[in-house]
Amino acid sequence: MESFKASQASDWAVHGIPAFQDNYLWVVEHGPSQQCLLVDPGSATEVLAWQRTHHRQCTGILLTHHHPDHIGGVETVLTNCESAVPVHGSHSGRISSVNQPVRGGDIFNWQGLTIRVLDVPGHTSDHLAYVIDRTAAGEVLPTPWLFCGDTLFSGGCGRLFEGSAEDMFTSLQKINEMPEQTLVFCAHEYTESNLKFALSIEPDNTDIQNRMREVQRIRTASLSTIPTTLKIERQTNLFIRSKNALELKDLRLKKDQF
Ligand SMILES: [Zn+2]
Repeated sequence: MESFKASQASDWAVHGIPAFQDNYLWVVEHGPSQQCLLVDPGSATEVLAWQRTHHRQCTGILLTHHHPDHIGGVETVLTNCESAVPVHGSHSGRISSVNQPVRGGDIFNWQGLTIRVLDVPGHTSDHLAYVIDRTAAGEVLPTPWLFCGDTLFSGGCGRLFEGSAEDMFTSLQKINEMPEQTLVFCAHEYTESNLKFALSIEPDNTDIQNRMREVQRIRTASLSTIPTTLKIERQTNLFIRSKNALELKDLRLKKDQF
């Protein structure tokens, strides 16, 4: 699959770069300044190729968590940058390349956009998500952008490697407070297998059946099912719809064995 433009808002755009088996590396681009912000550059080769093709300079990096497929390309990308680049990531100290440690509630700007940090533990204990929903001038974007790493997937959620079901439940609820038109830029193309699982639990759910048909059509055309929207996830994602941590825990256990 080729890289693709996933969203555009005024002078900014989000591009998806496929990498590894099923990862998406996300790039926020500011057209007028020819600068870009990388989200979880897990592999430098694809990112640097994209930057060359589009003539974009990297002037910022956002990291959601420490897994290699999210941070593997950071050092190489940095050595290819012309000047010092802020690398935002958890204050936990786990990722050595982070030079701008952040935590939930922090807010900072990049090229006229305001970026908000959410604490979303569950997949890892210090997992972060980043929200872009307004410009630094205070203008609200019509569709908020959410970069949530391996927390919320389309039709599913990340595995609980370090956090508890309670952590993941709280994190998904936090994400679910955002508006329904929010574009969810998760890090993996897991949608079809997640929906297969969802249909094994709720075979008669027509929302999930319809979403599955749509997803299969998209995948047959070798396109991406990401970004998804919170509206779609509220209808078809059993994990974000869980009423409590116990329900989520039960689903997660079943999915791990599916
Ligand atoms: Zn991960």
